[in-house]
Amino acid sequence: MKIFVINCGSSSLKYQVIDMSNENVLAKGLCDRIGLSQSFLKHSRTGHEAVVIEKDIYNHKKAIQEVLEVLTDPKIGVIASLDEIVAVGHRVVHGGEKFTNSVIINNEVLSAIEACCELAPLHNPPNIVGIQACQQLMPNTPEIAVFDTSFHQSMPAYAYLYPVPYELYTKHKLRKYGFHGTSHKFISERAAHILCKPLSSLKLVTCHLGNGSSICAIKNGKSIDTSMGFTPLEGLPMGTRSGSIDPAAIQFIMEKENMTIKEVTDMLNKKSGVLGLSHLSSDFRDLQEAADTGNAQAGLALDIFNYRVKKLIGEYAAAMGGIDAVIFTGGIGENDSPLRSAVAEGLDFLGIQIDEEKNKIRGKEIDISSEAATVRMLVIPTNEELAIAREAKKLIE
Ligand code: ADP
Repeated sequence: MKIFVINCGSSSLKYQVIDMSNENVLAKGLCDRIGLSQSFLKHSRTGHEAVVIEKDIYNHKKAIQEVLEVLTDPKIGVIASLDEIVAVGHRVVHGGEKFTNSVIINNEVLSAIEACCELAPLHNPPNIVGIQACQQLMPNTPEIAVFDTSFHQSMPAYAYLYPVPYELYTKHKLRKYGFHGTSHKFISERAAHILCKPLSSLKLVTCHLGNGSSICAIKNGKSIDTSMGFTPLEGLPMGTRSGSIDPAAIQFIMEKENMTIKEVTDMLNKKSGVLGLSHLSSDFRDLQEAADTGNAQAGLALDIFNYRVKKLIGEYAAAMGGIDAVIFTGGIGENDSPLRSAVAEGLDFLGIQIDEEKNKIRGKEIDISSEAATVRMLVIPTNEELAIAREAKKLIE
């Protein structure tokens, strides 16, 4: 049973073909610069060197067409015909309040995803284009939508509502939605497996730290709170995003810097976070290296990030009445040992203590807590594509 997983961004498309009989990735790749000059397709078959094909990929339909061609190519492909693909799993960013689970896509579902575009104007439109292109190119293959937001639909109203006039929620659906749900759910399930306890008995804090970062409080398998909000700008500082700031600061910045609201929003999304603080890089490897060689501003950016992660762990421990485990994932969470150490420091009052030797290990599933810890600290590499493929398999079965 082979499942084709697609993640369509505004000018890129990432894909994987996964054999669900053993969950092995047969091929993966990326179409980049879609609709721009110098577009290309990079395709890798497991166990083989990647191939880069430079092509004029003028839209997402063309991108999917190219991908399907390489997948069935006798030399570099992994399937004999498209009939081998039993389902297509699409990552869809926003499912609003409508989708609390993954779904098989039909016309009604597609209209509902379209209706969510105003909540995610940059993300949902390319997701829809990808779905429609597959419908045209593989009309008999079921398509499944897996939403970044649906896992967080279990949050109680007191966690998801903002303290603003209530009609902003009833009229415009202004509320916290949360993102990275597929990843938070995936690692919480893995954590239960590692801890040999039913997920329904656990209180977990999952930290997805990458270019975009969010933390989630998962009680008895359900998201009860998360740091991203109405948009992925809320919560932690990130590579280039500010995360939460005083809303009154926006008018202040507009007046002092003579900027429009669009310019400020753009700055908060693209020029803030650790990049804005350090004026050096949004990449934590660069910041760590600079801080180690005496760049105080890079050190400060990291301190701010670590402090906010630490505070949220405490906040969610309070929200759940305790924690059984804290889990790190994402490019930073999986690899940045100094950051994990800094976050754990001073949290022994909660029962968190890490083993510095184990913590040196990067990018692997591991329990990094010391023997004395009463709250486990785990590193679990996320795998959103596999999570999407599993959802697709479950639904078509
Ligand atoms: P995305 O949110 O785009 O999926 P990732 O989860 O891949 O991002 O995370 C990318 C980030 O991970 C990079 O910007 C970098 O800051 C960080 N990262 C990757 N490897 C390391 C490492 N060895 N040490 C510290 N940070 C790392």
